[in-house]
Amino acid sequence: MRDTLVLNASFEPLSTVTLNRAVVLVLQDKAVVEQEHPGLRMRAAAVDMPVPRVIRLCRYVRVPFRRHAPWSRRGVLVRDQHRCAYCGNRATTVDHVVPRAQGGGDEWMNTVASCAADNHRKADRTPEQAGMPLLHLPFVPTPADAMLLAMKAADRPNLPGPSAEPPSGQAA
Ligand SMILES: [Zn+2]
Repeated sequence: MRDTLVLNASFEPLSTVTLNRAVVLVLQDKAVVEQEHPGLRMRAAAVDMPVPRVIRLCRYVRVPFRRHAPWSRRGVLVRDQHRCAYCGNRATTVDHVVPRAQGGGDEWMNTVASCAADNHRKADRTPEQAGMPLLHLPFVPTPADAMLLAMKAADRPNLPGPSAEPPSGQAA
């Protein structure tokens, strides 16, 4: 079965997701079916619905990164769901795994969300040098990751926006 196209609430195409994911979004009332596969129905337990070819999100989500997924501090925080890679608490800063002082760059694979205390404690050291192992490894988000993470972030409106980020240059 082909993947399902996801449109933003504004009808702008966002990405594709697996059929399973599309069905879950519809059943959770997070998306509506815009276009179905003619003649096909899904039947399981209590579910009887058309097989979605295109779904549209009920609420507009602002996706901070797209197909080319340019690196951004905000993108890293959203990707890591504002969870510190070192202690699991709320993260407001972005840490360079290999510090910039040691040649580490602004890249998806070299940056993780971090709480300010751990960012300060780790300073210009690698996780090994600092004895601070990563709880989760960085990854390059796919467009589907980006969309699903943005939807999760939108479900938690109590999180501060990018204005709560410290001025750049503070993160190691
Ligand atoms: Zn921490």
